Amino acid sequence: MQIKTILNRVQKHKSFVYGAVRWVEGSPVPTLEVELQPRLNSRPVCIGCGRKRPGYDTLPERRFEFIPMWGHKVFLIYAPRRVECRDCGIRVERMPWVVGKHRLTEAYAWYLAGWAKRLSWKEVAVAFRTSWDHVFCSVERAVIWGREHQDLSGIEAIGVDEIQWQRGHRYLTLVYQIDGHCKRLLWIGEQRTVKTLLRFFRWFGKKRSQELKFVCSDMWKPYLKVIAKKAAGALHILDRFHIMGHLGKAIDEVRAQEAKELKEKGYEPVLTKTRWLLLKRPENLTAKQDTKLAELLQYNLKSIRSYLLKEEFQLFWQYTSPYWAGEFLDKWCTKTMRSKLVPMKRVARMLRRHRPLLLNWFRAKKQFSSGIVEGFNNKAKLTTRKAYGYRTYHAAEIALYHALGALPVPETAHEFF
Ligand SMILES: [Zn+2]
Repeated sequence: MQIKTILNRVQKHKSFVYGAVRWVEGSPVPTLEVELQPRLNSRPVCIGCGRKRPGYDTLPERRFEFIPMWGHKVFLIYAPRRVECRDCGIRVERMPWVVGKHRLTEAYAWYLAGWAKRLSWKEVAVAFRTSWDHVFCSVERAVIWGREHQDLSGIEAIGVDEIQWQRGHRYLTLVYQIDGHCKRLLWIGEQRTVKTLLRFFRWFGKKRSQELKFVCSDMWKPYLKVIAKKAAGALHILDRFHIMGHLGKAIDEVRAQEAKELKEKGYEPVLTKTRWLLLKRPENLTAKQDTKLAELLQYNLKSIRSYLLKEEFQLFWQYTSPYWAGEFLDKWCTKTMRSKLVPMKRVARMLRRHRPLLLNWFRAKKQFSSGIVEGFNNKAKLTTRKAYGYRTYHAAEIALYHALGALPVPETAHEFF
């Protein structure tokens, strides 16, 4: 069997034929070249209008990289014709195996993009003996195509989240679809301002925004403002993942401050491992740990009081009725406001301020667990971390859409991946 027989099986082009196949002597990586020729008497198709037009001349040969085979790089060699088009002028012909001025064939680009979902971009580049840029370019093409062809109908629930990226206080805003039947990343924007989220709604469209039934988000003021305005018909839910996150941060703050104070007063650094101590059942504590716990309780540590308040707040989520959940919330806030724990009081004040939105979670019958947004948040962080090599926002954006966007791929791409 000849190689062109295989190629005709994997990718046949109606108006082109595969010709001679040869080794490329002296190349650092074993390489095959496959000639492509226009079928006899076929007329070139204008790239501008897609119509058959008379030929004008022929350009020098170009190399298009195809999917490697048995450790060999494979290039298609073709001398593109130019057409004389009465609508578009003198243009190059359309070549069905490639788009635009790319050097990678469509088949190879989809192949690399497919692998880039399973491996890091660097790993893909190494595995297929290609460059990082080629992998990036392939993923970018896949993302652009996927976003042009994705179906945005029937979206009822979205979640708005932010992740920190790079170092310092730079944020990305991510909007997910969190419907039961479809969960995916819909949109990414730089920063987390009013403008950022407004850009999302502009992209999403007025009609679709009005059809939203649920929006989940953090208590971040710019988001709240925009959501109230642009998705007025939706039930706005503050998600559990972010609320517990605020409490966790408050505890860390209390603990750090307290550890510093204790040190300054010359006490032992008793606060290390306190959380762990409290997580363990008292009967499982060793004699040494018992002593330590007794010591901690004697100090009446702020950290432990904060921790206990947070644990108590977990009960909030157990309620079914918004009314009783509200009663619980009020009691918890009152108690916390009397605690003299400044960071905890700050959270309590924030929760009080957003009482109606907090209770919306119960009105939505708890159907949006913290798991969805949290899961996406973790994956997004992992993706941006994996995408370390490139520090530009654009690369991070492409990586996130590729990993989390559940974007469609063309029918033909499935043949190769
Ligand atoms: Zn034309």
